[in-house]
Amino acid sequence: MAAPRFGVLGWPVEHSRSPAMMAAAGLNYGLLPVAPERFAETVRGLHAAGFAGANVTIPHKEAALALADRASDVARAIGAANTLLLDAHTITADNTDGPGLLLALGDARVRTALVLGAGGSARAAAWALRSMGAQVAVWNRTHERAVALAADLGVRALRAPQPADVLVNCTAVGLEDPSDTFKALPLRPDDLDGYPTVVDLVYRAGGTPLVREAARRGARTVDGLEVLVRQGALSFEAWTGRAAPLVAMREAARRDPVPAAHATAPPHPRVT
Ligand code: NAP
Repeated sequence: MAAPRFGVLGWPVEHSRSPAMMAAAGLNYGLLPVAPERFAETVRGLHAAGFAGANVTIPHKEAALALADRASDVARAIGAANTLLLDAHTITADNTDGPGLLLALGDARVRTALVLGAGGSARAAAWALRSMGAQVAVWNRTHERAVALAADLGVRALRAPQPADVLVNCTAVGLEDPSDTFKALPLRPDDLDGYPTVVDLVYRAGGTPLVREAARRGARTVDGLEVLVRQGALSFEAWTGRAAPLVAMREAARRDPVPAAHATAPPHPRVT
């Protein structure tokens, strides 16, 4: 019997490090670029094409939860799915983004947390930090979205940041123009002294300005690649029932540049 197939559904998704990371874990795993209007039909065809599971990234995480036949409590609470388990009859949705963040934080002391952002990853972070008993506050550029997130997840929305044990950047700031970081976020470099642990979900070669500046000031830092590895390891375990080979996955995710084989992708998934 052929090995089950896996992949990551996104649009765009060409720069994902998941294929390299999951190949290092021994999975038959590829890129599945799919436009929003073709998402549902593509997912429904995946099992027949040999897929046993898929990761889901921007912009499909909410759609993935909506079309699933079953969903974990975590995915329902967050309101989005990043992991699908597929069999002949059932699409099951899960979310490993929040639990992956907690694993990446390790034994950091987290009584209070500030989450920057109000998109899908901010929802996962706020849910996860609250689930571990932290008092969570959320700031977002568009305040109304922070208010909506706060109401959904039982956290506080702030108009201006406050110090906390952990700062988690869940905005896209730092991705395109790193020099913009301390202008786009409501923080100056000095403000980072108010956060003993700093997590940046965004990652780039050489580190983001937020992580670099926080580390320079003595904070404990967690970069987006570690969060990526941890959520990927949990997806691997959900699909295979085996412990994930964390070291190999981490090495593959950090290898730079992304292997050329993953740099080009067809405009639509080949699922036959
Ligand atoms: P999303 O749902 O599109 O949300 C984007 C967030 O970024 C919103 O809160 C948005 O604020 C904010 N934002 C965008 N541009 C901004 C700017 N110039 N200034 C201030 N805020 C800005 O995206 P997401 O899924 O939450 O992901 C956010 C980022 O996290 C992604 O870019 C990705 O790099 C990273 N990520 C990493 C991992 C990982 O495993 N490491 C996982 C998921 C995501 P508004 O509401 O005001 O537009």
